[in-house]
Amino acid sequence: MRPHRFRDVIRVGPVRVGTHNDQRGREKHTAVCTAPGCGFSADYPDRTGAELAAKTHRCT
Ligand SMILES: [Zn+2]
Repeated sequence: MRPHRFRDVIRVGPVRVGTHNDQRGREKHTAVCTAPGCGFSADYPDRTGAELAAKTHRCT
């Protein structure tokens, strides 16, 4: 996880979804895969997108 203050963190399989505010105070929703060697991490403008990405993520 990057050094943001995540809140409302949920776990979907190996993927964590959390909400945080970026440097400009805008809300961002990030999905991060915690599986070793995967490295998937992406920001989404809405929570739904981040959770959907987590649910559909498959480690390569
Ligand atoms: Zn993964």
